[in-house]
Amino acid sequence: MKLQYVSTRDASEVVSASQAILKGLANGGGLFVPTQIPQLSVSLQELSKMSYQEIAYEVMKLYLTDFTEEELKGCINRAYDDKFDTEEIAPMVYADGAYYLELFHGSTIAFKDMALSILPHLMITSARKNNVSNDIVILTATSGDTGKAALAGFAGVEGTKIIVFYPKDGVSPIQKKQMVTQVGDNTLVVGINGNFDQAQTGVKKMFADKELAEELDKAHYQFSSANSINIGRLVPQIVYYVYAYSKLLANERIKEGEKINVVVPTGNFGNILAAFYAKNMGLPIDKLICASNENKVLYDFFQTGVYDKNREFVLTNSPSMDILISSNLERLIYRIAGEDAEKNAALMNQLVSEGKYEITDEMREKLGDFYGNYTDEDETGKVIHDLYEDTGYVIDTHTAVAAGVYEKYKKDTGDTKATVIASTASPFKFARSVMGAIDSAYDDMDDFALVDKLSEIANVKVPKAVEEIRNAEIRHKTICEVDEMPQVVRDFLKA
Ligand SMILES: *Cc1c(COP(=O)(O)O)cnc(C)c1O
Repeated sequence: MKLQYVSTRDASEVVSASQAILKGLANGGGLFVPTQIPQLSVSLQELSKMSYQEIAYEVMKLYLTDFTEEELKGCINRAYDDKFDTEEIAPMVYADGAYYLELFHGSTIAFKDMALSILPHLMITSARKNNVSNDIVILTATSGDTGKAALAGFAGVEGTKIIVFYPKDGVSPIQKKQMVTQVGDNTLVVGINGNFDQAQTGVKKMFADKELAEELDKAHYQFSSANSINIGRLVPQIVYYVYAYSKLLANERIKEGEKINVVVPTGNFGNILAAFYAKNMGLPIDKLICASNENKVLYDFFQTGVYDKNREFVLTNSPSMDILISSNLERLIYRIAGEDAEKNAALMNQLVSEGKYEITDEMREKLGDFYGNYTDEDETGKVIHDLYEDTGYVIDTHTAVAAGVYEKYKKDTGDTKATVIASTASPFKFARSVMGAIDSAYDDMDDFALVDKLSEIANVKVPKAVEEIRNAEIRHKTICEVDEMPQVVRDFLKA
């Protein structure tokens, strides 16, 4: 039986998996969700004997039911290969009472690689299946990590172009250097005078612009999205939660069926939503612990049932979580609204017009799987510092936000279940913040001296992704205003 995908804002818009991947966003701005969440079809014992790639197949085949076995395995094998610096793909490190699931061993040393290394292959396969002859233009807004991971995934992939917008002053120096040095004639990287939410809103507007779409179609292009709203990003992210559980089982850290907790440093709500799907597939997960930085709109939402983005936007040392509109939350809202597209659409329209919405008590009752909290900037630094002092293990700022929230969760609840913390970036990517937290004596060093020092104190080799940008040439210098974004796109495509 084929699994269908339906828009969260229009019950009449139903598509196949490959169509959902191609479109990215549904007409009218909704997100595609599977009409039901499939159940794992092999036992946890069997999974515990499988490789990352084998588990990826077992999970993804349940969602991408219009892909043949050969197609899907082809995509998986092209994605999870030696681009990753370990055969485990996502190794786990035990430190100070938690299992850190390292999702940063891909080509840009952040967790976005887990999905973006496979998305281009899923997209090309989807295009072929649907007889699409236009070139696919990937349009992405990034707060740092998505951009580079998408660029790395799509660069040089025939039949695609990729345009990435980032907030000029809202990403780390290393993130910026990674992006502006991107090679590949099919890539364009543009800084905007604005924050991430403005970049994202600008991209969403272009997706909804019918005139622009017609112009592009005449020039044989069509847009698609690599943002975390694409179901082709969400589904590959479910895999590593299943993998983490199966490794804990294989290493006898838990018994079969024993529940674990998962802690996720959250921005757009994609990563933790994947954990929610994993749980609903039958993976024994107890609490989904949602960690925010000082942009704690999600914490407030779980506390009060009110989602309110009308607040000061804080630039933190965990910039990939500096987000006030968590796009993927819509998929959860849709679900707790009883899969009622009209009800969901009304709330989302309210978010646009008033910047906030409130869910009903009945909906709030369905959020029992979640625990939300936040870690402020000082606490985040202290978490990095203390973990290093106590164990020698160095984590990045985003992961530290999660570790800080896990400490609060344990204090609040006394829960001692085995817990997996999603470790979303390599500390090398945020070397300045990380090293500054460990010792202020490092504050005067330049970026690459810091990287070398980090390598020394953590006893970890400098990742290839960092070595590569040391002397790389800057290739992308375009900066524009938010309202100039469509023209930048036209110019690049000469449409
Ligand atoms: C994107 C990102 C996050 C947030 O993930 P979401 O899926 O957007 O919630 C956290 N940490 C890092 C390092 C990221 O790049």
